[in-house]
Amino acid sequence: MEFPSEPFKIKVVERLQKTSREERDRLIREAGYNVFRIPAEKIYIDLLTDSGTSAMSDNQWAGLMLGDESYAGSRNFFHFEETVRSIFGFQYVIPTHQGRVAENLLFSVTVKKGDVVPNNIHFDTTRANVEYHGALALDQVIDKGLDPHEIHPFKGNMDLDKLERTIKEYGPERIPLVMLTITNNSGGGQPVSMENIRKTSELVHRYGIPLIFDACRFAENCYFIKEREPGYQNKSILEIARELFSYGDGCTMSAKKDGLVNIGGFLALNNRDWAEKVTNLLILVEGFPTYGGLAGRDLEAIARGLKEVLDEDYLAFRIGQVRYLGEMLKDAGVPILEPVGGHAVYLNAREFVPHIPQEQFPAQALTVALYREAGIRAVEIGSLMFAQKDPETGEVRYPKLELVRLAIPRRVYTTQHMIYVAESIAKIYQKRDEIKGLRIVYEAPYLRHFTAKLEEVD
Ligand SMILES: *Cc1c(COP(=O)(O)O)cnc(C)c1O
Repeated sequence: MEFPSEPFKIKVVERLQKTSREERDRLIREAGYNVFRIPAEKIYIDLLTDSGTSAMSDNQWAGLMLGDESYAGSRNFFHFEETVRSIFGFQYVIPTHQGRVAENLLFSVTVKKGDVVPNNIHFDTTRANVEYHGALALDQVIDKGLDPHEIHPFKGNMDLDKLERTIKEYGPERIPLVMLTITNNSGGGQPVSMENIRKTSELVHRYGIPLIFDACRFAENCYFIKEREPGYQNKSILEIARELFSYGDGCTMSAKKDGLVNIGGFLALNNRDWAEKVTNLLILVEGFPTYGGLAGRDLEAIARGLKEVLDEDYLAFRIGQVRYLGEMLKDAGVPILEPVGGHAVYLNAREFVPHIPQEQFPAQALTVALYREAGIRAVEIGSLMFAQKDPETGEVRYPKLELVRLAIPRRVYTTQHMIYVAESIAKIYQKRDEIKGLRIVYEAPYLRHFTAKLEEVD
């Protein structure tokens, strides 16, 4: 395949430290077989997340120097607000220090105990925030979106029949809002089509339910629409984004993704009543409404990042780099989720290590192997993250997919780094029988994967 070459050159570099196999073996054991507990300096290629790990541009760094750190009414807030309005189109723009706070504020104001919040697939922080408010978080992606072999251009699409059945079953009065995650992170970074967005919007609005986007990777989703959906080839990414958001009533956003910054987020809404309530809470937990937990310079960097992310040369490189890594792995016979999504390649752990049963965390076991063998840090998206005990029966419900996500930071790694990753994983695949299952020795009540400690099962 043709890989688009980097549409940037390097102005600043950061040293990477190589470690020995012996050192990594000790480190992973000390870390309780949890790569979140390993010091970043001991990692060669860090694919833990694409969140907050982007390289900012010279233009963004220059913007930091123009930060106006006034407590109220900073000029950077107005630039940020105007930029968000011009792309997303929503009236009220509420800055937060990251995406999950936008979620928490939104649900604090809209969701009560016993409510139901459908989504194509809830991201882990979204699900946790919905459940924390006593509501039920339902995933309603199309069945094809859960099949790791199914080739479909828009595997993030909402299943409209499932959604309508849910609305009828629980009643619209118990559904304060419906969400759509673009791209669908927990389902493999898969895009949602404009047609599906329009139809989801029509359906929920027919029942008087607002549609809120989880917009973290909106630009990548727009690029897929341009590439794959008839009628959008000659539209700009900005035009596609504006149409897409016109079907919704608001969005939560982690600017740490397609904002191309290291910290920041926002909530954007059209509903004045919600916006007012959220703003009052914001003052309590984040800060004054014109900074919301961020410095003025951060708001400037987000405003500039949101404009840069719409650049098609950037997006072609970005999506192309991720796809290229996927192609190299496929050529080596490594089982991955297909088609490759926007921000990450997902290894299919159930096929990679079929000898490890689901209760022994096959995807986490593979994550451990990637670090130990090659100094690569990936993240488990499987049972450790999602398996849940049924509160009534005590029975453990396992997720359908056991994935290891190789998330690619934006503008950070070169093609040669991607080749190193592919070759290392191909070698691990050759001796996959040696990988051992794991069991938990410590877990927290929420989002346990961040802090859990495990041990190897013999
Ligand atoms: C990252 C992410 C979030 C949460 O954002 P944070 O900035 O990490 O708090 C929510 N939803 C999706 C889809 C994400 O990828």
